[in-house]
Amino acid sequence: MVSSGQAPREVTLDDITELCARRGFFFQTGKIYGGLAGFYDYGPLGVELMKNVLDDWWWYFVERREDMYGISGSIITHPKVWEASGHVDSFIDFIVTCQKCGAEYRADHLLEDRGIKITQYTPEELKNLIRVNNIRCPACGGELSDPKAFNLMFSSTLGPKKDVPFTVYLRPETAQLIFVNFKNIVFSMGATLPFGVAQYGKAFRNEISPRNFLFRLREFIQMEIEYFVNPKKLNECPYFDEVKNVEISLLSAEDQERGVEQARRVRIEDAVETGLIGSKWHAYWVAESLRWLWRIGLSPEKLRVREHVKTELAHYAKQTFDIEYYFPYMGWKEIEGISNRSDYDLQRHQEFSGEPLHIIDSGEKIVPYVIEPSFGLERIILAILTEAFTVEKNRIYLSLKPRIAPYKVAIFPLVKRDGLDRLAREIYNEIREHIRAYYDDDGSIGKRYAKADEIGVPFCVTVDGQSLQDSTVTVRYRDTRQQVRVHREDLLDFLLKEIRSN
Ligand code: AMP
Repeated sequence: MVSSGQAPREVTLDDITELCARRGFFFQTGKIYGGLAGFYDYGPLGVELMKNVLDDWWWYFVERREDMYGISGSIITHPKVWEASGHVDSFIDFIVTCQKCGAEYRADHLLEDRGIKITQYTPEELKNLIRVNNIRCPACGGELSDPKAFNLMFSSTLGPKKDVPFTVYLRPETAQLIFVNFKNIVFSMGATLPFGVAQYGKAFRNEISPRNFLFRLREFIQMEIEYFVNPKKLNECPYFDEVKNVEISLLSAEDQERGVEQARRVRIEDAVETGLIGSKWHAYWVAESLRWLWRIGLSPEKLRVREHVKTELAHYAKQTFDIEYYFPYMGWKEIEGISNRSDYDLQRHQEFSGEPLHIIDSGEKIVPYVIEPSFGLERIILAILTEAFTVEKNRIYLSLKPRIAPYKVAIFPLVKRDGLDRLAREIYNEIREHIRAYYDDDGSIGKRYAKADEIGVPFCVTVDGQSLQDSTVTVRYRDTRQQVRVHREDLLDFLLKEIRSN
């Protein structure tokens, strides 16, 4: 833990997992039965954080825009969807099994753990690398099998006829639900190009080696946008001026192929003009994504935009950028992908279903191109917690933005007597009608502040002796511990203003 006078230290993954379990952000699922790898339950604080991030995402990308619709698709859908999308055939990773103890591993992860990073490979190449580098079972040292393809989709059977099974899949991404509803949205909403469809919800991937707490899960929440554009108008973005001066750290595919590791600072407009980003619409979504990530508290210097090199580019993608966050305990890791998926998905669904999936634009029949920003909620939450976790002299606090903090306000009586508790409760009852707040009169005031700091409460309101005289209370700011006195009548407005402006 922390002792006073220590220099600030870097946050570890253990700091985050320990805090999350102890303070009710995340619990390992079914822990009383030994838990299940890759699954976590959101606890009371986690679910507030989840809701706040999702609400802010929805507000930023859907509600305040005139060109965006939302949907919420089903988790199990027609299996043909996943045949058309390519998931049935090629949503695979390679697995190796220990011949001695039976442990199973994702082959590329074993190589990565030995400092060998590969992005695209054949099973033969994997087999070779494992042999040449003499990689054995990390648990028992046993010999490993040849790599075998393993499909990451969870499947189930539909209906009661178990003798005639009808295989269905839990969706491995939310995106396909948008593509198969394209025509429904165009007809029901009268949508015209360009427009986007947004959706958040659970996605399921039977990851071979889930790890790093919330980073690689088997059940997680995606927040995805499919933004449909006429392929001839990829450079006609009416909002481009809003973002053209945004500066980003960009690591291009070409730089990576030349061995460059340092991202370069570049203005969005220059990134398009020099051909680093393929189109204005793609660049616009990169900038908008970053602006939202900054808004929820991730700092610009810890975010970079890394282009996929040719060998890692998905079969459907023309160009892809990952937004990566710098986790001190893992290095740069993807938290969002932004792809130009071309017209691949709509064409495939058109082909497999026989339904025309075009739209009329400028008098022409168009199968639109798609720019897809795809965010992973839990990875973003892990980044937020990592960024916010602050060790300072003799205390720990979570420096969360008020708009996403699980509780915005904590209300305390200085002591639990002399009518202070009655007045504090009255104030709490007024505030909680408008702001997520909690009341605490348990133990010393110091302990209550420490708990509020650890769960990231930005404002603590304390009722003390003076409150009985002049109806003022103290408001304490979490990060600075500065205190101001506010009249009870002004308190609600004061807090609302502070929350909105931070
Ligand atoms: P992908 O479809 O693989 O590009 O994933 C889109 C986003 O979903 C990624 O940027 C991640 O934030 C998130 N994601 C993908 N796989 C996982 C996983 N196993 N656990 C948690 N988040 C994930």
